Amino acid sequence: MLAALRSGGLDAKAAPTRAPGHATELATEAARDGVEVAVAWGGDGTVREVATGLLGTQTALGIVPGGTTNVVAIAFGLPSKALPAAARIGALPARPIDVGLCGGQPFLMQASSGPEAHLMERVAGSRLKAWLGLPGVILASVPVLLRYRFPEVVVRADGELVRCTGAMVCNISEVAGPYRVAPDGRFDDGQLELLVFRGRGLWATAGFAFALFFGRHLRRADTELRPVRHVIFEPSPGALLQLDGDAIDLPRPAEARLAPQRLLALVDAR
Ligand SMILES: [Mg+2]
Repeated sequence: MLAALRSGGLDAKAAPTRAPGHATELATEAARDGVEVAVAWGGDGTVREVATGLLGTQTALGIVPGGTTNVVAIAFGLPSKALPAAARIGALPARPIDVGLCGGQPFLMQASSGPEAHLMERVAGSRLKAWLGLPGVILASVPVLLRYRFPEVVVRADGELVRCTGAMVCNISEVAGPYRVAPDGRFDDGQLELLVFRGRGLWATAGFAFALFFGRHLRRADTELRPVRHVIFEPSPGALLQLDGDAIDLPRPAEARLAPQRLLALVDAR
């Protein structure tokens, strides 16, 4: 890995993470030391930890994909394999990108409450995911959704009260891989997109997932997308919040908006 990074022009050193949250500490130290680029080698959870340490600093985020889906790497247009990505990123310019904050916690991808947040909590650590990757996630999701009661999720979108079963605040357009849940959203357009889902039950949720797969989810009567500046997640008993794929027990009301500072990132897209 170091050889691949060096072949791309980065004078790289390794800093292994030891526990959840450690990547944020390492990134904070790197920024304090004036390091030019901090490379996150891992999945979207690791990317989020490194971005948290770098937000508002002059140290740029580089990504070498090493997780199950690597959504941020896909959004940034990076090669999907680790070594080609490592060899590529040294040649990329650092660009300022948007970072969302939900309840004060940074997110790069999405903050959401609803069926997918419930699924991430129940399925993220499952053995099926470790064995089978994305197909394992789908297999493990069916029994979880059959038991999910689709509690009401209440949000305030730019002040307007919205009642639904799922609300997703998107900073990038992709979700769960290359699927463009917010097709017009960009990671540097200075705004967020809110996806509202009002479906209930396994079939509505599976129908949404298939429609998303084919890029047709916005034609559904139970689905709506709008640009937003800020979204408040009101207390919704039984509905978890997730940020970038990790279920997080934030006190509510929790407000999602863009951070005032931006993040420098090595990006190969658009
Ligand atoms: Mg945006």
